[in-house]
This record gives sequence, C-alpha cells and structure tokens, in this order.
Amino acid sequence: MPKEEVNNLALRRALFFPSAEIYANAPSGFWEFGPIGHAIRRRIIEAWRKELVEKEGMIEISGAQILPEDVFKASGHLENFNDPIVQCKKCHSLARADKLIADKIDDIVPESLATNELDAMIKDHQVSCPKCKGKDFDKVKKFNMMMGLAIGATGDQPAYLRPETCQSIFLDFKRLYKNWRGDLPLGIAQAGKSFRNEIAPRNTLLRQREFGQMEIELFFDPERIDEVPAFDSVSDYELNLMLVNSGKVQKISCKDAASKKIVSGKFIAYYIACVQQFYNKLGVPLEKMRFRGLDKDEKAFYAKETWDFEIETDLGWIELMACNYRTDHDLKGHAEQSKQDLSVNENGRKFIPHVFELSAGIDRTLYTLLDLSFRKEKRGKEERNYLKLPPRVAPFLCAVFPLVKKDGLLEKAKEIYKSLIDYGFDVFFDEKGSIGKRYARVDEVGIPFAVTVDYDTMEDGTVTLRSRDSMEQKRVKVEELSGLLWDLKSAQKSF
Ligand code: ATP
Repeated sequence: MPKEEVNNLALRRALFFPSAEIYANAPSGFWEFGPIGHAIRRRIIEAWRKELVEKEGMIEISGAQILPEDVFKASGHLENFNDPIVQCKKCHSLARADKLIADKIDDIVPESLATNELDAMIKDHQVSCPKCKGKDFDKVKKFNMMMGLAIGATGDQPAYLRPETCQSIFLDFKRLYKNWRGDLPLGIAQAGKSFRNEIAPRNTLLRQREFGQMEIELFFDPERIDEVPAFDSVSDYELNLMLVNSGKVQKISCKDAASKKIVSGKFIAYYIACVQQFYNKLGVPLEKMRFRGLDKDEKAFYAKETWDFEIETDLGWIELMACNYRTDHDLKGHAEQSKQDLSVNENGRKFIPHVFELSAGIDRTLYTLLDLSFRKEKRGKEERNYLKLPPRVAPFLCAVFPLVKKDGLLEKAKEIYKSLIDYGFDVFFDEKGSIGKRYARVDEVGIPFAVTVDYDTMEDGTVTLRSRDSMEQKRVKVEELSGLLWDLKSAQKSF
C-alpha cells in the first residue's frame, strides 16, 4: 500500500505515532505503539517464537539493555559501528553520505567506503542537499551510532544502550551452554529493543533510533557445517537467492546452494530456508522475497558472509533481516577482552564455536505486513479498506459485538467474549456505533472474524459469524464457536 495510506491508517487508528508528540521539540526516530499496533507487534514476536525458536529447538533469553563499554570494545562496535555523515555548508543539515548518493544514483552505495571515496562520489554525481538543494558539502566524517551513558553517581562507568540485541547472547553463551544442554549446535534467541543514534531517521518505523529486534544466534562447530540432521526436510526447497552483484533472483534448492558452495554450508542453507518459510507463513508471497548476497564493501565488519533478507513493498525492497555468518568474531573478542575461556570441548577438540545469525527487525516486519496486506475494495457504491492479515498476526482473532446494548444482549455478548478469552483467543469487544460501522472498524485493522450477538441468540443460542475477507456471514451455535474459530485460525477449515 502507498506509504501515505500506511501512515494515515497508523495515525487514524493509533497503530503507531510519534513519541512525545505533544512536545514540538521531541526528537525524531522514536515511536509509540497503540493497542492495535502493539497487538500486531506481539503476534509477530509470538509467531517468530513458535516457528523459529521453539520448533527449531532453540532457547530464548532476556538480557540487559545497557552494557558496559568493555563489551563494545570487544565486539568492535566502539571502533567500527560508524555511519558516514556529511553536512551541507549552506543550511548545516546533516545527512548519511551513502544514502544521499544512493538516492541520487538509484543504486546501492556501501556504507563502508572510505570517506574520501564518498567525497568524490558526492562531487562526481553532483549530489545536492535534500533540504536546501545546495551542492556545497563539508568533508564526509565517520559518526559512531551508539548511544552512550554514564552509570552511577560519579558517572565514571561508561556504558552504552545496546545497538543490537545479540551481544548479551554472546556474553551469556558459556553459562547457557554449560547449564542448559552442553552441546552444539545451540540456538539462542532474544527479542527486545535496540538503540542507534541514526543520523536521519525516516519512513516512520523503518529507520528509528529505538527499535525492536528479534535475533537468533546459532552456535555451531565449523567443522560440522554440513552436518544438519533435519536437512532432508529442506533439501529440495528452493531459496530466492540474489547472488552478489548478479542483479537478479534465482531459485536455488538448499541442496544446490550448499553443494555448489553458494552458501558456506548446509547449516546456513537450512536456516535461510526456515526464514523464507517463516515469512511465507506470515502471508508474504514468495515472489516478494529475496536474499541478497552482500559483497565485501557492504557487509558489516563482523561478517564473513551476509544474506540480507528483503521484501518488496510500495517503497521498494526493504531489508527485514540480516543473515550473518559471524564466525568466531564475537566470542573470540569477548574472550580476549574479559580474559575468560569461551571455548568448548566437543568432538575431541577444544574450539571457539562459530555463529550464524538471523537478525530481524520487529518494526520493519510490522510495517511490511501492513504494506502488503492493505486492500481497498469497491462493492457497488460502497468502498472499504481492510488489512488482509493472516489470523496468526492479526491484532485479535475475532471481535464480539452486541447488536444493541439492551434486553440482555450486552451481558450475553460479554459472556461469550470472556469465554473466548478463557479458550485462549485474543478477542476484541465493541459496543459503540452501528453494526456496519463496527464491522468497518475491525476490517480496517485486520481482525479476521466478528461475532454478533442478536435477538436470535437469546432465542436459539446461535450468533452471526462474519468473515473480514469475504464479508460472508453464517449462523453458528455458541457452543461450536470456539472449535470453529480454532479451525479457522489454524487454517484447518476455510470460512
Ligand atoms: P540498514 O542498512 O538499513 O541501516 P543494518 O544493515 O544496519 O540496516 P542490521 O544491523 O543488520 O541493520 O540490523 C538487523 C535488522 O534490524 C535490520 O534488518 C532491520 O530489520 C533492523 N534495523 C536495523 N536498524 C534499524 C532502524 N534504525 N530502525 C528499524 N529497524 C532497524
């Protein structure tokens, strides 16, 4: 859906809106989630937890958001987590040099290019300032994106808000490995907030300064990168791979990707397949997804191999997840800095495990699902908007409405509402406005089913069940409602 439609819907129904918005000078890049936005966000995390973390036998943790400076010395963030910035000499506005050039030439510009190379490109391509159109810029500088703070009354303990959720996974690895299961491969996951001092936050949730990440770090023995017991289940499954500098997506089976060394091994191919299948279950069509291979200039400083998982939206291709083969970079760095032994003893060897990372953005996933699920439809004279979200990421599975508030209908509707909650469903209740308006309101935010309690309910114990997508209605016995909703939710039945 066009960006304006997403933003209008978000503001109109308070899905998300700027943080501290009543203050004119509030900094940009911070967003609040209202009840519907928050609910969809939770569903996305729940789906990720079920499909990737639990089904793949991983464990999940919750770590601190503030970590001491030593952690980021070891991880390399203090030295390398920089963006190139450039200042316009005329209006003094700041911009990210790589993005400014990329917008001008409509091509990818690696952020890791040397500052003098970026200076030259700005000149060669006659890049102008997006604010005042001036063409005179200061020299490009590197800017560290971590948000620093000082701990304690004396403030002598430098620390940072985490720029990615994964560092605590590396810090906790040894304890979890020893105390939890004690063998590789071990997948450790975490969903939470990360913080980056982005120079130019933009496109609402797509580039924020405080944002949600759901990250998975898969620790494995590098000598066993081709030993994956479940590989047969994906062997012939085709991945949408866009090989480095190829400019086109190719469908390549996991088996071929691994055997032809397009990816470093079966372990990598297997988890890339899991990601593609996961987003497909969230309703993203396969033709709108790709894994873009990054070349050495584009990869993060810690990665040996990176596949950016991208989805095509109205704004173009958006990176939702970075799939990084981080090797032993992080554990080795922390072992050296902390002087602790972070190696394991397995398969008759002592070694530092390697890591394959699946680092996804929660809010970018939310934005993308809104973009892809938006529908505008005309039936006769009537026009309606709805979000065709699959039940598992819809904000609520169903809504319950009393047709009117009198004659016991309100009480009956509340009783059904509570019983559906007891059954484990997420349910929305609305008693205000005409029934048509209530249907329109829940369609607009993607609630797939609505239950209406009317006078017949009081007579024969049936309710009206309505489908968001087809707008069809059917009578259902109250005692059969939860079973039917369950079947609809798990796609065992269609409406
Ligand atoms: P970009 O190149 O767009 O700045 P990145 O490559 O720096 O992103 P990663 O460090 O790989 O991003 O982070 C992993 C994921 O976290 C991204 O794929 C994205 O979904 C999410 N993410 C990163 N930065 C932001 C941000 N500023 N706002 C929202 N989500 C973000």
